[in-house]
Amino acid sequence: MSLLSDRITNMSTSATLAMAAKARELRAEGKDIIGLSLGEPDFNTPDFIKDAAIQAVNDNYNSYSPVDGYVELKEAVITKFKRDNNLTYTLPQVVVSTGAKQSLYNIAQVLLNKGDEVILPCPYWVSYSDIVTVAEGVPVEVKTSITTDFKMTASQLEAAITPKTKMLWFSSPCNPSGSLYSKEELEALASVLIKHPNIYVVSDEIYEHINYTDKPHASMAGIDGMFDRTITVNGVSKAFAMTGWRVGFIGAPDWIARACNKMQGQVTSGTNCIAQRAVITALNADPSVVNYMIDEFKTRRDMMLNLLEDLEGFKTNTPEGAFYLFPDVSHFFGKTLRGKTIHNATDFSLYLLEEALVATVTGAAFGNPDCIRISYAASQEQIKEAVKRIKAVLV
Ligand code: PMP
Ligand code: GLU
Repeated sequence: MSLLSDRITNMSTSATLAMAAKARELRAEGKDIIGLSLGEPDFNTPDFIKDAAIQAVNDNYNSYSPVDGYVELKEAVITKFKRDNNLTYTLPQVVVSTGAKQSLYNIAQVLLNKGDEVILPCPYWVSYSDIVTVAEGVPVEVKTSITTDFKMTASQLEAAITPKTKMLWFSSPCNPSGSLYSKEELEALASVLIKHPNIYVVSDEIYEHINYTDKPHASMAGIDGMFDRTITVNGVSKAFAMTGWRVGFIGAPDWIARACNKMQGQVTSGTNCIAQRAVITALNADPSVVNYMIDEFKTRRDMMLNLLEDLEGFKTNTPEGAFYLFPDVSHFFGKTLRGKTIHNATDFSLYLLEEALVATVTGAAFGNPDCIRISYAASQEQIKEAVKRIKAVLV
């Protein structure tokens, strides 16, 4: 009998974090690894946010905060939702958590019963399926392909719904495909959901500001009839380069927010108090303060797309947001390179790590085994060098 619970034994290790750990390990052995695996901005947190944290330390913020966050922070979240998304939430509808990851975990724990199905358009963010599974939900993968820009259509959604469907979870801009759902595309999905009033939606908008188009960001909660059935998840990790500060939040129907608050009260208590004080300042700022990062990400996206055009066997869409490329590399399956046979995307990603010293993540972890994910949250020099190395090991 295993000493560990089935729950943890059956859980997969986060592939993004595992690859980042592997890259760190190899670096410690002296290998010159270029890390394109982790979805983490390589910028510093802006100074005005750091100053707010220093001020909070000096102001002696050292006690437990309210479990669902300081009122001033919840007010800043409400301001942000109104200003950026035209969504009107009230204080009891907002919960601040230790990263959007905890927000997602809370939601699964409070809404799913054993056997409840959760529709996940593929590719989906790596942790969705394990967060759902650990809550005894059943992930239902809906395959999409490069031909629909990796987006789920309304008819695919309709076909995936069964009497057991409880939720739909998706991110837009999408990690890992970079696709954005337009307002019209969300309306098409909503027209199906409206016929099934018991289905709730998680709209993960953490890459909202990393949008390279002139299309405004569209929120599912803003679509007619969806506000009371949508949990809007967001956070500061990506837009403000604050991954390690661990602050995320939700806007949700108040009965769901109350349940998340109760869950969190038994599991983590409130989020780190210094980080919360800093995030008040971040969210009250005009989002244009981070435009310099977004402009740089766009330059890198274009550079990466250009460089990949030269690589035979990498088929990719043009991501409209986030900072990932998700090329289909199935061209290499069955081929033997440098004595190593590539059976699938996991082999290919490992091959790139071992032979080119470039860390990527297998698409299998995101529900698409034909692709790999490449994060271009790395310097232009690193991107150029990485593609040069990849090219050299593919011949
Ligand atoms: N959702 C998506 C789509 C993500 O890529 C991430 C990665 N950080 C998260 C949620 C979790 O973010 P956080 O750092 O706020 O936990
Ligand atoms: N969200 C990032 C990624 O997809 C960070 C890693 C993680 O939280 O799993 O790489």
